[in-house]
Amino acid sequence: MALPLMRNYIDGQWVESDSTTFGDVYNPAKGEKIARVAYGTAADVDRAVRAGREAFAAWRETPPLTRARYLFRLKEAFEENFDEIAEVLTTEHGKAIDEARGEVRRMIENVEHATGVTTLMCGYTMEDIAKNIDCYGHRQPMGVFGGIAPYNFPAMVPWWFLPYAVVTGNTFILKPSEQVPMTQTRIMEIVDEVGFPEGVINMVHGSRDVVDAMLDHPDIKGISFVGSTPTARYIYKRCGETGKRVQSLGGAKNVVAVMPDADLPQGMPSLLTSFFGCTGQRCLSGSVLVPVGDIADRLVEAFARAAQTVTVGDGLDEQTFMGPLISAAHRERVLGYIEKGIHEGADLILDGRGIQVEDYPDGFYMGPTIFDNVTPDMTIAREEIFGPVVSIVRAADMDAVVELINTRGYANAACIYTGSGAAAREFKYRVKPAMIGVNIGIAAPMSFFPFGGSGHSMFGDIKGHGQESFLFYTDMKVVIERWY
Ligand code: NAD
Repeated sequence: MALPLMRNYIDGQWVESDSTTFGDVYNPAKGEKIARVAYGTAADVDRAVRAGREAFAAWRETPPLTRARYLFRLKEAFEENFDEIAEVLTTEHGKAIDEARGEVRRMIENVEHATGVTTLMCGYTMEDIAKNIDCYGHRQPMGVFGGIAPYNFPAMVPWWFLPYAVVTGNTFILKPSEQVPMTQTRIMEIVDEVGFPEGVINMVHGSRDVVDAMLDHPDIKGISFVGSTPTARYIYKRCGETGKRVQSLGGAKNVVAVMPDADLPQGMPSLLTSFFGCTGQRCLSGSVLVPVGDIADRLVEAFARAAQTVTVGDGLDEQTFMGPLISAAHRERVLGYIEKGIHEGADLILDGRGIQVEDYPDGFYMGPTIFDNVTPDMTIAREEIFGPVVSIVRAADMDAVVELINTRGYANAACIYTGSGAAAREFKYRVKPAMIGVNIGIAAPMSFFPFGGSGHSMFGDIKGHGQESFLFYTDMKVVIERWY
């Protein structure tokens, strides 16, 4: 049977790319091909930009409250299709179905937050800045924006951006990850049913050629990007060269510190989720576990024991805690890091290689893997692995923890488990990462707070969602006025 081909959504129509290059989409739980996607071209991007540019004229004049009403309708439609979106997501990505549901919920929350446009897009005014002169600044939409997404959150990440861009009066072109094009295809079908004006929301599937065409296109005013640090750095540089506004979120190597006074029984479930949730494929995943002082042996023993209870399997099975990795190639990459850890002298105390999942011999599975006695200079303590591999670096005190965190280039998130407010304060005050968890293993800001790291984890200065989004997608026009 022919596999379904994912199509582009441009100007309110489903259209095929004339590209001759295609990619396969897999169900990673089974290792089976389930769909094909065309790797779009510069011509596809140009078509979408023209649609976006033409739609912009009327859309920017549409009152903000009317624009918000489209989002209210979209929210209802997403709720009605909630379970189906989550299932498509798990099928092509692999994450456990409950995590997929959580992701879809976060996606919807961004739609909800964006409906606050009538308050959040306001500017400000002042009378009499000089005799008989008044001044006001108002926020104007800018035109066509582009969004480029990673594979690990197929539903949510594009919607960190799209609702805010559109509700402020811009039009939008989304390029989903070519590894997971089905989720946004289903979502765009819902967008289509809700009936946004044609050309306001567009989607072009593809890979690097689509990205480059977006970066080069003179009529795209700004780019919101999320992905790995090398790509994020590239996007940031190219947007600088072509004069585009940009927010470019990159990779991570998150440290989770556990102080001697931490409540281990209370903290263990969220520690497990931090390191093994989403099979470690989260920019907020714990990657380096740091026991501080004399809790080390107790923590390592309890954590390794708990990790052995993690159930690995098809994400669609409600009993599964940890689904497969995204692809065979990515599993090879993660295996390479495990080899490196062994080679560099870390102690492999839990080995997730070679795990077998009944009925799915071809799935891209990997079990929880833990290295103890990792030193800060080892590769597995420095580089993003993006899999269920934990590097335990034992530290003597808070100074050592801060030193470890602040000497990584990545600075996305950092977490501390402690019973002491003073220790928590010192930690959040001194460390460089921009998202901090205190007795929380995944420090994920909700839609009404900004999302993004610092250092090599984020290029640009305005983060994703939160109130800041309304600044990113608008230009402040200041009028200074005198009447005789
Ligand atoms: P990736 O960088 O490989 O791909 C991201 C997007 O960029 C995709 O749409 C892809 O088609 C495109 N792309 C890839 N290489 C490109 C190139 N050379 N030129 C132009 N475009 C290119 O990232 P990924 O593997 O899909 O996603 C995982 C990464 O994303 C991890 O590093 C993870 O930490 C990061 N991530 C970060 C955040 C955050 O908030 N900082 C959130 C989610 C994921």
